[in-house]
Amino acid sequence: MGKGGPRPELRTILREKQDGRCCYCRIKMRICFPNSRRPDAETLEHLDRRADGGRNAPDNIALACRDCNTGRGSIDWLSYTTLKRGEHYEAGR
Ligand SMILES: [Zn+2]
Repeated sequence: MGKGGPRPELRTILREKQDGRCCYCRIKMRICFPNSRRPDAETLEHLDRRADGGRNAPDNIALACRDCNTGRGSIDWLSYTTLKRGEHYEAGR
């Protein structure tokens, strides 16, 4: 995570919008310290990766569990969502 760190208000808004669930796999996330190692810890996720020109703007940020956030790799967010929800035929790589 770069500068301009997590904004608490944004987190609160997103948490309400997403009903406290991961934007990918829909599990209920736990609110933990940012360095928590729990797989279900709540993290801020950039939908369009910063490496791919994603902006650090609210409409590019969602809450994802740590497990999804770290496991996404270079897959685009939409493919990853269908993958995590079991709607995908196979793990395209
Ligand atoms: Zn998840």
